[in-house]
Amino acid sequence: MAIATINPATGQTVREFDSLTEAQVDEALDRAVRGFADYRTTSFEQRATWLRATADLLEAEADDVAAMMTEEMGKTLASAKAETLKCAKGFRYYADHGAEMLADEPADAEAVGASRAYMRYQPLGVVLAVMPWNFPLWQAVRFAAPALMAGNVGILKHASNVPQSALYLEDVLRRAGFPEGCFQTLLIGSSMVESILRDPRVAAATLTGSEPAGRSVAAIAGDEVKHTVLELGGSDPYIVMPSADIPRAAKTAVTARVQNNGQSCIAAKRFIVHTDAYDEFVDAFTAGFRSLVVGDPTEEATDVGPLATEQGRTDLEELVDDAVGKGAKVLIGGSRVDRPGWFYEPTILADITEEMEIYSAEAFGPVAALYRVENIDDAIAIANDTTFGLGGNAWTTDAAEQEQFIDRIESGQVFINGMTTSYPELGFGGIKRSGYGRELTSHGIHEFCNIKTVWIA
Ligand code: NAP
Repeated sequence: MAIATINPATGQTVREFDSLTEAQVDEALDRAVRGFADYRTTSFEQRATWLRATADLLEAEADDVAAMMTEEMGKTLASAKAETLKCAKGFRYYADHGAEMLADEPADAEAVGASRAYMRYQPLGVVLAVMPWNFPLWQAVRFAAPALMAGNVGILKHASNVPQSALYLEDVLRRAGFPEGCFQTLLIGSSMVESILRDPRVAAATLTGSEPAGRSVAAIAGDEVKHTVLELGGSDPYIVMPSADIPRAAKTAVTARVQNNGQSCIAAKRFIVHTDAYDEFVDAFTAGFRSLVVGDPTEEATDVGPLATEQGRTDLEELVDDAVGKGAKVLIGGSRVDRPGWFYEPTILADITEEMEIYSAEAFGPVAALYRVENIDDAIAIANDTTFGLGGNAWTTDAAEQEQFIDRIESGQVFINGMTTSYPELGFGGIKRSGYGRELTSHGIHEFCNIKTVWIA
């Protein structure tokens, strides 16, 4: 895959970049090791100062950063700006709370026959981050902010279609004061990931992306016995029960499906609706889709921009065509948009059956799959009938039902009467083939720490 910015709204190549050579990667790894030797000795206070300076720069530069992201992957300008400001918040969160999260954790010294015993959180070293294009900054910041606060140094291999966002992150961290070697962007293709991961200078890796990419990185890391965090795909259920506020559930469902032009791992993708709420929900949901403005992502009125890549649109189109060919009913949309760029109509499909690929695959675009169920057990059965386990949404005002959804949905997170969103204050991650490990909160910072037991007689 070429390393290039190709504007998805026009299909035009804006800028191309050469991949680094193996020798340049080797130099970068040396720089990272040298950087780590000094950086690991810096104080929490110093790291927090640099994190806050990064946040300040992001806030000051948010408009330009947003324009760059929109040009690279087609998200609307408003959502790109919101993402930039969220990144600033993420940096501040770890600046404010990192020291407390990394403080020595006392153990019961008496129980273990010591005068003093505790756990110390120490950095692992050079961590490789392989990241996707859908949230070009936020995905990388979710790794960078906690990893840097903990004293690690980062090597970023970003998706090949967001090279400018990738370079910006390295640049902004340097301008904020992080010393050389603390965070480097390597413009390389995915074929170079294996040798970097096997390199003894690299201690651990995190990958956010598709299941095949995750499987490949996990297999190599397993062979090298290196720690990994995997944040992979999702096909989140969005369950609506009769007691719910149906108009609000339908309005939120529209956002939950089409946010980021439908390309979010935690987007609601399967809408599982109780038969007593079905007609009201589907009418309102379809009306919401009908009112969406699809178009140029730089225009303020636009709700849904293009898919980020031509291949992404082809994959989505194939999923819809397969379902329709096997009897799915198109309530709205169902086709690509006839204009330059990689636009696809916001689409709702009903009458989904197990034979259709969309039943089990992740629809990475603005396509909703609808299911009608008779009761809560059927709703949960369909929700869990997936290899994914990232997020889950359920709408009901019945406390007993809420508890059932919280307890029985197989996922890393459950949102009741709302849509799944990431916050620094909440843990983020999945189970099953959505991956393992957690990002954000103290869990995210501890992923890249050696949790060292200390016992003193
Ligand atoms: P992708 O094709 O897996 O790419 C993600 C990253 O992995 C890119 O940097 C890519 O590099 C690299 N890569 C691809 N194949 C690789 C391999 N065999 N070995 C090493 N690296 C490899 O995924 P995507 O299409 O960019 O992103 C969409 C997927 O990410 C969806 O499934 C989505 O649900 C998932 N996602 C998950 C989360 C989460 O937090 N759980 C968040 C966002 C997205 P190149 O670009 O050079 O190919």
